[in-house]
Amino acid sequence: MTPKRRIIPVFVPHLGCPNDCVFCNQRKISGRLSPATPETVHEAVAEARKAGVTGAELAFYGGSFTAIDRAEQEALLSAAAEHFATGEVAALRVSTRPDRITPEALALLKKYRVETVELGAQSMDDGVLRLSGRGHTAEATRGAAKMVKESGFSLILQMMTGLPGDSGEESIYTARELAALAPEGVRIYPAVILRDTPLYELWRRGKYREHTVEDAVSLCARIVPVFEAAGVKIIRLGLNPSDELSGGEAAGGAYHPALGEMVYSRIWRGKAEAALSSLVGAESVTLGVKASRVSVMTGQKRCNVEYLRDKFGLKELKIRPAEVPDGEIAVLERH
Ligand code: SF4
Repeated sequence: MTPKRRIIPVFVPHLGCPNDCVFCNQRKISGRLSPATPETVHEAVAEARKAGVTGAELAFYGGSFTAIDRAEQEALLSAAAEHFATGEVAALRVSTRPDRITPEALALLKKYRVETVELGAQSMDDGVLRLSGRGHTAEATRGAAKMVKESGFSLILQMMTGLPGDSGEESIYTARELAALAPEGVRIYPAVILRDTPLYELWRRGKYREHTVEDAVSLCARIVPVFEAAGVKIIRLGLNPSDELSGGEAAGGAYHPALGEMVYSRIWRGKAEAALSSLVGAESVTLGVKASRVSVMTGQKRCNVEYLRDKFGLKELKIRPAEVPDGEIAVLERH
């Protein structure tokens, strides 16, 4: 995998998906979506060309690439492969469901030089998977991940937090289980309540407790270190902000355009709490972090500084750049 490679995204709405994941609105909005065709692929590459992007990775997103009709898969893959010769596309990536990984499906992806396969694991707890209508088990994810890696693809795993039946501990367990599958990267998507979904109906009827932004921030601040300790790169945290989501499509749940930043800020807050708890009787403290971490340590609208000042009864708390190893906090001054 080349992490810095530019991505040309092509969304493949799975209009005929037989599953009914509670958080997904694809079936309900299918009338508003048009299927992806080879022309969609050529247009996406042309857009990238206009923007001066070359050597990019073309990514078929949408959740279930290998579950669509095989002829349709081939048409999309061969349209993308036409752009290998010009150098505009250097690699392909698809995302799909764990239970739609078979040796035949992977052989087709290999034929068209797909490099990366993303699997929507979502949870490794079978109860959560069942309540979320995923239609596959944790064991299916283990088997698919193994097959993908053994076939020589880069593996990316996606997980969700805040699904029905998940108290938070199931998400921590999921993170540990996914890390054990040694993917090249993970995406973490806290549940967002989209309109026109079964989750929206459950929430409206009081049968689902919303996974708030605060719930997601505090839980993901525990999940991120699990992946970091295992050396697994976190390539996305939270849904990509969009006009639709910000404009009301997200009726509730953990949607915030700066969710990732808030999670990392929370992790730094925890480190500062540990550093400050040993300074008994201090009234004024200056903490030092690597220059590039000052902003995340301070928090949005100085929220970490305010929180820590209140919690430790400090008159003043300053955060300063310092020559310290990345990830560490030094107490520069205390009075
Ligand atoms: S998220 Fe679930 S329901 Fe939606 S397209 Fe994917 S498999 Fe189908």
